[in-house]
Amino acid sequence: MERKGILFVLSGPSGAGKGTVCKALMDTKTPLKLSISVTTRSPRDGEQEGLNYFFRSVAEFEEMIAADALLEWAKVYNNFYGTPRSFVEQQLAAGHDVFLEIDIQGAMQVKRRFPNGVFIFLIPPSQRELESRILGRGSETTESFNIRTSAARDELQKMREYDYVVVNDVVADACVRIRSIIEAEHAQVRRN
Ligand code: 5GP
Repeated sequence: MERKGILFVLSGPSGAGKGTVCKALMDTKTPLKLSISVTTRSPRDGEQEGLNYFFRSVAEFEEMIAADALLEWAKVYNNFYGTPRSFVEQQLAAGHDVFLEIDIQGAMQVKRRFPNGVFIFLIPPSQRELESRILGRGSETTESFNIRTSAARDELQKMREYDYVVVNDVVADACVRIRSIIEAEHAQVRRN
């Protein structure tokens, strides 16, 4: 039976190392099709059009929104970022798995359009500590701890919207964990 590809979304709080993990994952042989985002920010040294991003003006980006050419979009650090819709839809229809590396706001939009997508939340190891304290022993936290961690906690609350959480302690290990998730999802009976 012909099967559609699976949409994997890697997301998480800033500082989690999403970009690094995504690059490492793609550097090794992988059948995943990486979606290249559109952004209005300027290219950094070494970044290439169509390889790292599609670099566009704000006007061009707005045209894409108006034409419903973006699956999701968000403003991150004063720049716009979005996922081209046609690439994702075409690859999935052709049976290829697609991988998105996007921010939390964008991931929540994708979840509404693709509830069967696989949503992976990447966290830095120091937030694992926060996670166990916040979720496990909430009543023991002090006021100063609450203040220090309030921003992180807001972001961590979003974790509940995801299917998996991966700790990015060592990049290679985080990649192994993500690969295991991909394999597990392929073995899911409900998908076949
Ligand atoms: P950077 O400018 O450092 O490449 O990326 C900044 C942030 O934008 C990162 O958190 C990255 O995950 C996010 N990002 C990159 N592409 C997209 C996209 O297409 N959509 C959304 N919502 N976020 C994106």
